Amino acid sequence: VLFEKAEIGGLLENANLVENYPGFPEGIGGPKLAILLRNHLIKTGVEIHFEKVIELDYANERFHLRTDKRRVDSRFAIVASGTRPRKLNIEGLSECVKKSILYEIQQIKNIENEKIAIIGAGDAAFDYAINLSKRNEVVILNRGQNVKCIHLLFERASAIGSISYLEDTETKRIESHNGGLKLTCTGPTGVSEISVKYLVAAVGREPELRFLSENIKKIRERLVKDKHIYFIGDVENGKFRQTAIAVGDGIRAAMEISRNIQRKTE
Ligand SMILES: Cc1cc2nc3c(=O)[nH]c(=O)nc-3n(C[C@H](O)[C@H](O)[C@H](O)COP(=O)(O)OP(=O)(O)OC[C@H]3O[C@@H](n4cnc5c(N)ncnc54)[C@H](O)[C@@H]3O)c2cc1C
Repeated sequence: VLFEKAEIGGLLENANLVENYPGFPEGIGGPKLAILLRNHLIKTGVEIHFEKVIELDYANERFHLRTDKRRVDSRFAIVASGTRPRKLNIEGLSECVKKSILYEIQQIKNIENEKIAIIGAGDAAFDYAINLSKRNEVVILNRGQNVKCIHLLFERASAIGSISYLEDTETKRIESHNGGLKLTCTGPTGVSEISVKYLVAAVGREPELRFLSENIKKIRERLVKDKHIYFIGDVENGKFRQTAIAVGDGIRAAMEISRNIQRKTE
């Protein structure tokens, strides 16, 4: 039984061009790959509930999963809940501004002719910039001097006229302004103001595990070692957050569980 709180595809919906997923030598857009994976999933007949898991607990050698609509018990659990974005840490942001900061680009990927600021310097920041620059003007704001994305992404972004990249540029204040946002930044040339329609913060992600009960957190290591629970994909993979790795993790977990069940029934 699969539980998904949003839509099948997860973070892939935000990826511009996936070039390291085997079988697609020309690369494939993240949303397109998500559709293929979803079609494959549906074909398997897996039972899917579009519900948020509120809690996953473990007692009496069973997992107890709870959503706001149902409770499900199981012998095994696979946690593939990915990551959630780190929030932008700038003092004095109003509630209204906080609500308008985006942490993923799904909801603006079809907009046109707007100016968009992206705070960050990693793969996601540059991938978002390349994606959004097809129809918009994008400015990437890096508070440091180091670019943390892979070289290829940096090279590609540098060659796109509608992307400007400002390093050593720290965003100090964000205010609502003319239906968009006004950013006050300090940089090598002093204080500057940048008005944009949207602001995307790509300042890191952390594992999404808020639904794990305290009990599971306490005995997690043992449950993993005894192969009762599997943490797969981005939720577990630290710096190696890639689709092919997540899929490989999933296949391994499925095979181990299947063998385990078979052994018990033999
Ligand atoms: C901009 C960008 C570009 C990328 N480019 C590439 C690339 O080129 N190549 C590549 O291999 N990878 C790329 N990735 C990474 C790739 O998207 C991830 O590695 C992949 O999506 C990981 O899959 P996952 O299932 O582990 O996690 P996710 O995709 O994060 O999926 C987790 C799912 O769990 C759901 N969920 C979370 N909590 C709950 C809950 N409590 N209840 C129910 N459901 C829940 C979420 O809604 C989500 O759908 C990129 C990512 C980004 C952001």
